[in-house]
Amino acid sequence: MRMTNATDNTNKKTEHVDVLIAGAGISGVGAAYHLQDQCAGKSYVILEALESFGGTWRMHTYPGIRSDSDLYTFGYRFKPWIGPPIATADEILNYMEEVIDENKIGDQIRYQHKIVGAKWSSEDKLWYVDVCRTDIGETLHFTTNFLWMCQGYYNHAEGYTPEWHGMDTFQGEIVHPQTWPEDIDLKGKRVICIGSGATAATLVPAIAGECEHVTLLQRSPTYFFPAENRNELADELHRIGVDDAVVHDIARKKALFDQAEMTQRCLDEPEVVKEELLTAAREYLGPDFDIDKHFTPKYRPWQQRLAFIPDGDLFVGVASGKASVVTDQIDRFTEKGILLKSGEELEADIIITATGFNLSVLGGIPFEVDGEPVDFSQTVTYRGMMFTGVPNMVWVFGYFRASWTLRVDLVADFVCRLLKHMDAKGVEEVRVAPRDQDEDMEILPWMDSDNFNPGYLMRSMHLMPKRGSDPIWEHTQDYWRECEELPKVDLDAEEFVYSALPRKVRTKVA
Ligand SMILES: Cc1cc2nc3c(=O)[nH]c(=O)nc-3n(C[C@H](O)[C@H](O)[C@H](O)COP(=O)(O)OP(=O)(O)OC[C@H]3O[C@@H](n4cnc5c(N)ncnc54)[C@H](O)[C@@H]3O)c2cc1C
Repeated sequence: MRMTNATDNTNKKTEHVDVLIAGAGISGVGAAYHLQDQCAGKSYVILEALESFGGTWRMHTYPGIRSDSDLYTFGYRFKPWIGPPIATADEILNYMEEVIDENKIGDQIRYQHKIVGAKWSSEDKLWYVDVCRTDIGETLHFTTNFLWMCQGYYNHAEGYTPEWHGMDTFQGEIVHPQTWPEDIDLKGKRVICIGSGATAATLVPAIAGECEHVTLLQRSPTYFFPAENRNELADELHRIGVDDAVVHDIARKKALFDQAEMTQRCLDEPEVVKEELLTAAREYLGPDFDIDKHFTPKYRPWQQRLAFIPDGDLFVGVASGKASVVTDQIDRFTEKGILLKSGEELEADIIITATGFNLSVLGGIPFEVDGEPVDFSQTVTYRGMMFTGVPNMVWVFGYFRASWTLRVDLVADFVCRLLKHMDAKGVEEVRVAPRDQDEDMEILPWMDSDNFNPGYLMRSMHLMPKRGSDPIWEHTQDYWRECEELPKVDLDAEEFVYSALPRKVRTKVA
């Protein structure tokens, strides 16, 4: 179907598309590729609030910004990755640009189009979407049959900074990596970087050479996995002339196999894996470094994402003396820096708060269904993609521990199959609803905190949709399970409730 103009209930000219994709990050561009490929007749647009594509990889500009998972799995399954496994933001953006150009996706992306509201009408079987043109401040209106929400999972405007006593007295500069100032001058400065996650681990070695000294200040340690930033198997296959697509496929399978093996080992023999990770740290840091204090977490490996450090760069920075690690609690900020609970005061000119994100549910966009506001915390998720009471909408929420994009491809296959199924059935609406057997199902928080418990998720769990105790009502973090299950989902199963426009209305719309 070609793009058409429809008329909304206020009689203003409204643009209509079959599918509306929110966001031109790695999820939205992947969604567009699959939609074009698998549902060639469907019209679509991607609405993107920023002035360009890339999402996370364009918004984050702090020094050293890079992936922490390998690009054989963070890249799409359909587009070979040719560089080293861990990529910089620029390399990821180049890769995405090639996907957009090669598949002529650019014509369908509307930049500086921020979605500010979405209202479902069961009568019309349409979403009415309000959009703000951020460049000219105008409001535009779209209608769509299906919303494919690829707007990410965190608040893009502002990162998470805890409130510490005395912050306003600090005489230096406080910076959050998510809003990194272009003009910041680190030369000759004493820097403290608060945090122990992937961002801190990236930033610290990246600035260690530039500033006078950088201290990584952490409340508690994280597991780091140091390894060379190369893939021997892929390099060898390239060297002997194997086709890029074949190398990508093999390297991807190998990376997935290794991850699955590692995950299983973390469950079966966490103490052995822990010891291996600590031994690797010792090799970089030497026998005198206090590994117990600074790099031995209290949690089991895999309870939080394992942070990969290419070529052990964080450990190299610490071993060189240009960076150091302090494991302690912040008592308060002072004029000169930070006073720790131990009584020590760390002096600094710049304090970086690599303290994480604010989780955002569906981009904070106000949703309504038939005039009622949607409170997503009162919905139950269908496999982490759809939500009870919210028709014709899918949210792409990737994997936390495996690469996010693995799920982008899988969810896209599901959406395209669902759209084709609806067409074949001659229906315009699909909802998910509990089955008879779910009547006594236990309703639980989105994620089992014993299984996965990063701070940003724990802080916002109450805002997230709920999970049911039956596996179809949860967002599993298990790529392998979803690989098996998603393609086999019976779209006529009881949990899918379809409905069609009355025949008279349908004829009029067509
Ligand atoms: C620094 C950093 C490093 C990461 N590294 C990895 C990694 O190595 N591996 C991994 O698997 N994951 C990683 N992640 C998680 C990462 O966010 C995802 O992997 C992935 O990039 C998310 O892509 P996305 O397209 O779903 O969302 P985003 O990248 O967040 O893109 C969403 C897009 O939607 C747009 N948007 C939002 N709201 C609206 C609206 N209302 N209207 C219109 N447009 C809107 C945004 O402007 C943005 O462009 C990392 C995250 C961060 C922050």
